[in-house]
Amino acid sequence: MERKLFQLGDVVQMKKAHPCGTNAWKVIRMGMDIRIKCTGCDHSVMIPRLEFERKMKKVLQSTEPKEE
Ligand SMILES: [Zn+2]
Repeated sequence: MERKLFQLGDVVQMKKAHPCGTNAWKVIRMGMDIRIKCTGCDHSVMIPRLEFERKMKKVLQSTEPKEE
């Protein structure tokens, strides 16, 4: 199984769109649980990391890694 890579600040697309019609979520918290915020209506949800990886379709917009 392919492991999806994502990081804080990325905008991701989920398998199911939010009821508001938007399917672009910004990752605003990383940890055991992932918190994502709908970019359409600012509603945020917290979901366990494994569930997030299952429900995430792809990264729409990746945050550039900071160069040291
Ligand atoms: Zn929404």
